Amino acid sequence: MAEPALKRSLGDAVGAAEAVVRQAQVVQARVGPPSVTTEQQRVRMSVAAATESLRAVAGQGGRVNGAVGADAESRFRDSSRGFEQPGRVFRTLTTARRHSLEEENDLRRLIVQRNPEARPDAVQPGDYTGPADPRQAPAGSTERLSVDVAGWMGRSVLGDTLAGRFARTPPVVTEDPHRLFRFEGSLSGGMSAAGMYHPGTNHISIDADAMADLPPEARRQTIAHEMLHYAAYLGGGATIRWRDGSGAAVVPKDMEFLHEGATELMSQQLSRTHGSDPGRVAYGAETTVAFYLQQIAGANVLGAAYLGGDFTAVRRAVDAKLGAGAFDGMAATGSGSGALAFMRERMQARGLGAELARWDANPIVRTAGAID
Ligand SMILES: [Zn+2]
Repeated sequence: MAEPALKRSLGDAVGAAEAVVRQAQVVQARVGPPSVTTEQQRVRMSVAAATESLRAVAGQGGRVNGAVGADAESRFRDSSRGFEQPGRVFRTLTTARRHSLEEENDLRRLIVQRNPEARPDAVQPGDYTGPADPRQAPAGSTERLSVDVAGWMGRSVLGDTLAGRFARTPPVVTEDPHRLFRFEGSLSGGMSAAGMYHPGTNHISIDADAMADLPPEARRQTIAHEMLHYAAYLGGGATIRWRDGSGAAVVPKDMEFLHEGATELMSQQLSRTHGSDPGRVAYGAETTVAFYLQQIAGANVLGAAYLGGDFTAVRRAVDAKLGAGAFDGMAATGSGSGALAFMRERMQARGLGAELARWDANPIVRTAGAID
């Protein structure tokens, strides 16, 4: 879904800023994500240095595993506590839309600042209007659907502590103009996704253009995906980490693929549990890897690791099944496609091809389309 949105964005409006994105994608196609991550980090650092409110947007893709090294232990412990509530809480659609408009203005300013030749579309405040209460939004609208989807995030999914936090500062979901996503994508070097969770807040933006092309089932799942990002933020899950055999904290880089894959997997399963088959799966390879990990570790263990960020138990289960070093080897690939190839090779090498074939028959794995 990122693709068509991105193609639409490749006009001359944003100019040089988008050339950076195209370049990064070419690099990604040729040599894989590490180079892109480096490019993204560089761009994000410059974005983050720009304005206060942009830091949240810049953190969108960079929120997973920014730190390694000597402070790993303190990072590990800090993340384990998660957040009682986000730093910035929105209570109505009106205040959240004002936040979107503020973000868009900041992004536009930054694009022009960094690329004097660029002429990004003018921001239209009138695009950010609508009722303050999602229950007054039109039937079938993103805002109304989000009320149903928030109801999926109960204690059985999030656990008591996290469900309590989630309920006290429930997510506010606004459907925003595609332009906001285009601006954000061009600056962060990230993909132009259908939705974004604004880190540090309880606000989720959903792309109006992307939603217009989707049936209600896929729209609900997109909303669920972003709400899980928010839940994982509250739980400490945005920093994937584990303890090695000696108990030392490990906070590796390049684990965003696993965070996204688990987010998509859980949102897919939640949707289907509620009788809503999205008919499409984003992050195909990443989601398939998460599904394999879920088969190996169990749904409760993977779910707790995803929401809280501590993958120690998942790592132990993977190594028990696929041999010592298997989890670290999978993680070190730093990408969904790399991790998928790695896990499939290990399964085959251990004589587990028949079990792998059963996993691959799962409807979510089949729809994800990452297996030939
Ligand atoms: Zn996501």
